Amino acid sequence: MKWNVFSEQDKETNARTGFFSNNAADKVICKTPHCILVTSRGSLPHVTNDVLSEFPCLGLQLETFDFLWLNSNSKLKGSDILREFGAGMHEYCQLQPHPLYLSFVSQQQVDKITFSAKRQQFHAYQRGNTITFSWSDYLELVQTSYCDMVECPSVVTKDDSKNGGVWDSNRLQRDCEQSTQLQYEFIQQWSQQHGPSFEQSMCIGVVQGGMKEEQRRRHAQSISQLNGIGGFYIDVLPAKLTEQQKLASISISNLPPWLPRGMEASGSLEQVLALVGCGVDYFISSYPYILSTHGYALDLPHKNNLWNIQYRNNTDPLSLHCSCPVCRRYTRAYLNHLLNTHEMLAMTLLMIHNSAQYIQFFHQIQQAIETKTFGAFQKQFLASRRVDDS
Ligand SMILES: [Zn+2]
Repeated sequence: MKWNVFSEQDKETNARTGFFSNNAADKVICKTPHCILVTSRGSLPHVTNDVLSEFPCLGLQLETFDFLWLNSNSKLKGSDILREFGAGMHEYCQLQPHPLYLSFVSQQQVDKITFSAKRQQFHAYQRGNTITFSWSDYLELVQTSYCDMVECPSVVTKDDSKNGGVWDSNRLQRDCEQSTQLQYEFIQQWSQQHGPSFEQSMCIGVVQGGMKEEQRRRHAQSISQLNGIGGFYIDVLPAKLTEQQKLASISISNLPPWLPRGMEASGSLEQVLALVGCGVDYFISSYPYILSTHGYALDLPHKNNLWNIQYRNNTDPLSLHCSCPVCRRYTRAYLNHLLNTHEMLAMTLLMIHNSAQYIQFFHQIQQAIETKTFGAFQKQFLASRRVDDS
């Protein structure tokens, strides 16, 4: 997997387009900016694989914790099962057409990650539990999964809320230095031990630095210098959008422009637009899932709350401009009924539709950048947006 930048870059912003392609055949897999949707054990929640096949070039994120032990009772290691299976995660999860992204850890799920050099073990602290796994557990999972994009391991620091949310600069610097060292060693070992899987995958460097601008600049520079990095993930904690934009811009200005950079963006469409403007190329997101759980249906640029009584007799599709399987068959009234009678089918149908609209949103962004009208598109999108929160 590699990424190529197109020449188009928006004049007013740093928005740009590019594409991921297959190393061997140089076949375009997907254009950027694009989304990589979060899965649960390799499945997009509520969406079956036959429906997924209707979505072209959909990137999917796999969560390491889901695959370290595929059988929680026997503690059978995921890498042992995958090694015996021999054909990698695409085949194992039946996700052949989709680019797969293996994240080391989801920032949203853990409170902290530490690494003990003496024991060669990671400790992930998650809602009162501690999960321990070794350096080799992760390396073996990477080598047997054949994912298209693989994140380097890193330690995770969050602000010390007991200390009034103030960052401890010394600790942050120590953690950043340890993360750089871990990423360096990971690339060395992966490339030396298993050449082909390293060749096929894109190694993603993790850029950290908390909310400290200087620390972020320094960490971006040190990760950029690691040989073997094919792209970057900019690790930014949930914060105000303006703060996220600032940290993204500082990180990006210190990264090589010929490599792709990604961020987590499950918050809103406004967040995606703002970060595209900073030059972010791919987005790890569970936004369609979050919308669907709250009964919302996207009707670009709007989102409608289908719980609302106003849709009880509305025979329009969820969006007049959507060609997804749900819009071809069902009405707003039907979804309103399913939600109000607490039928589980509502989630399935909303998830299919919202995922299709979300992908459509990224196509609109790509088109706007290609025609050098991203700034105008962003302004118009935000100005015309009606959000039905009732
Ligand atoms: Zn639809």
